[in-house]
Amino acid sequence: MVLPSITTPRYTLEQPSTGKQISYRPFLVREEKILLMALESDDAFEAIQATKQVIANCCDLEDIDSMPMFDIEYILLQLRSKSVGEIAEPAIACPECGGTIKLKLDLSKVKVQKTKDHTSKIQLTSTVGLVMKYPTYAMLQSAKGAENFTSVETMDLMLDCIDFIYDGDQNHKASDQTKEELHAFIDQLTQAHFAKIQDFFDTMPKLEHTMSYTCANKVEDAGEQSKCGYKGKLVISTLQDFFG
Ligand SMILES: [Zn+2]
Repeated sequence: MVLPSITTPRYTLEQPSTGKQISYRPFLVREEKILLMALESDDAFEAIQATKQVIANCCDLEDIDSMPMFDIEYILLQLRSKSVGEIAEPAIACPECGGTIKLKLDLSKVKVQKTKDHTSKIQLTSTVGLVMKYPTYAMLQSAKGAENFTSVETMDLMLDCIDFIYDGDQNHKASDQTKEELHAFIDQLTQAHFAKIQDFFDTMPKLEHTMSYTCANKVEDAGEQSKCGYKGKLVISTLQDFFG
């Protein structure tokens, strides 16, 4: 007997870093299993492999390895919203009364936040500077896992994010230099230069969503029942929290 096959619908989303339209289908039961395992895993390498697999299965994408992390996170969130549901319900404890507040988060409204004036071009002197690129999965993988960075690995990741070094109208591709040459270049920078590089990472686009809430839990107030009424703001920025 031939069992019926199910046609899955297709959707499009806009890749945050490029504005390009990407066609995708929702993930299926088999992929949701992979994704849940990845999110619960303590092994960063395993989690990266699994999420990459899910994205490769669902999207028409050529090169996932070179995509910025914030693109990947945004795509995962869109996949999840079309697959499991657009409304997530993260629960938090009220800082005032300690009661549980269940929030309603519309995942389709979550965007990659961009900082005004953020630039990938870092001017060091009047003629010399850097052009940076965003951290990708491939870089994190080669940095031996996304967590517990030592300063050496953080420095390596920073070097990986240099696209090229310019000197007047001459461009030196970072990938054509050795690690030692790049280290030597960075070593001669001042603290002020270094702060500019740090600023690139601090202001780069990120998946983040701020929710305002009012606590409606009942509390005893001088023997009378009333609503707590605490007003707070919650900033959600990790996939685990979005998927909550
Ligand atoms: Zn409360």
